[in-house]
Amino acid sequence: MVLPGPQKGTSRISRVTDASDIPIRVRPEIAALPAYKQGKQAGDEAFKLSSNENPFDPLPGVVEALHGASAVNRYPDAAATRLRERLAARFGVGVDAVHIGAGSVSILAQLVQATSGAGDEVVYAWRSFEAYPWLAVVAGATAVQVPLTADARHDFAAMAAAITDRTRAIIVCSPNNPTGPIVTQAEFDAFVDIVPADVLVILDEAYAEFVTDPDAVDGLRTPGGPSRDNVVVLRTFSKAFGLAGLRVGYAVGHPRILDAARSTSIPLSVTALAETAALASLDAEDVLLERVRVIAERRDRLAAALRDAGWRVPQAQGNFVWLPGGEESLELAAAFEAAGLIVRPFAGDGIRISVGEEESVGKVLRIAGTVVNDLPKGHPGRGLA
Ligand SMILES: *Cc1c(COP(=O)(O)O)cnc(C)c1O
Repeated sequence: MVLPGPQKGTSRISRVTDASDIPIRVRPEIAALPAYKQGKQAGDEAFKLSSNENPFDPLPGVVEALHGASAVNRYPDAAATRLRERLAARFGVGVDAVHIGAGSVSILAQLVQATSGAGDEVVYAWRSFEAYPWLAVVAGATAVQVPLTADARHDFAAMAAAITDRTRAIIVCSPNNPTGPIVTQAEFDAFVDIVPADVLVILDEAYAEFVTDPDAVDGLRTPGGPSRDNVVVLRTFSKAFGLAGLRVGYAVGHPRILDAARSTSIPLSVTALAETAALASLDAEDVLLERVRVIAERRDRLAAALRDAGWRVPQAQGNFVWLPGGEESLELAAAFEAAGLIVRPFAGDGIRISVGEEESVGKVLRIAGTVVNDLPKGHPGRGLA
């Protein structure tokens, strides 16, 4: 497989290569996948700004709840009923319209698996979340990548044009990881109107809590769940709620679609500890909202200062900012790393910097302000200033 880099025009990825160094027979498209590489771990002195994690300690009550949690010699409740009931009440849907997974990535995998096999197509914007191409390939389907617009937003006209009779799932990511902009409610509604009613639309809202743009799509804005039967909304406890290490996320949508997802899932992968921590986090909503406000304010300050320094930073509505580093992205990431800032480079395209501890902001700005001056004239990262 060719790992998707920046590219012009919609592309279909299903190229197959042989791997003679694997001692057994492996599906060729799996053998061709690059071996998993985890984001860099930060040393003691460094700030880890590479995985969009929450810099705060767990919410109050979470650690206590984990200490009091039930015996780990028992299997968890396979259906995570308490958490589903809690979320169902919160979003005004039936309990069957909520599905819990070991992180929303695992629900993404289930939905793609349930809808898309060999010959089927999964459409999404690119660049977006790194897991999307991998999910399609692992399901045996073809990944159809639709380039973002020049300002790093979803191009819905091009996405609509990419739909064929082989399309089975479409993923919309708002705010878009790693570039930052939201999809507006109006854009999303107009797009869903033209998607065939039997094609799944996954609205991935991993960063929903950080959004401050009032025009942004909110798949769970109105009680009763998504407005269309073919839309499933994904949220996670990993980012705003700060539970990335425990692996818990959820989907809200049509119960029969979620049944299909459940049928593909590995049973019992959501632990009782994860469920307990998620419930305790929901109890601490006031503190959560205050922390989210702090991070959103820090993000806006960071993005504004980066623009002042000469960077062309797209709208940033998650807990991260995007620097269009182009061909210089790896070098730029190395410059940040040398200063004790672990950021996430995407070769040939850009670097994503998570909004971390307050003390990291000044350091990020110092390095970013220096390296921008080394970029050649006309570089995609350079602002109009
Ligand atoms: C982080 C992230 C997720 C989910 O992460 P989990 O930890 O698996 O819940 C999903 N989508 C996007 C775009 C993300 O950035």
